[in-house]
Amino acid sequence: MAKKYTITLYPDKCIGCGACAGVEAELFEMDEETYISKLKSSVKKEEDGKEVWVFETDDPKNAKEAAEICPGQAIKVEESEE
Ligand code: SF4
Repeated sequence: MAKKYTITLYPDKCIGCGACAGVEAELFEMDEETYISKLKSSVKKEEDGKEVWVFETDDPKNAKEAAEICPGQAIKVEESEE
């Protein structure tokens, strides 16, 4: 069975540089009003009292690339727990 990965976007860490949406437009888009990144097709959750956006995928490659270039370290990709 293919592994599942969880992509988490932390809006409070996003500095609105637009890099993630620039390289991975299928996954990320910039909010036109706040200019904070949004993770497409994601679910809003709360983590440590803060709002986060979470998306499950079996192909984390593009999200990992975005996480590597994110200057705010606002994107996390981790293997989902079974
Ligand atoms: S790369 Fe990081 S800091 Fe820049 S817009 Fe995307 S989430 Fe925000």
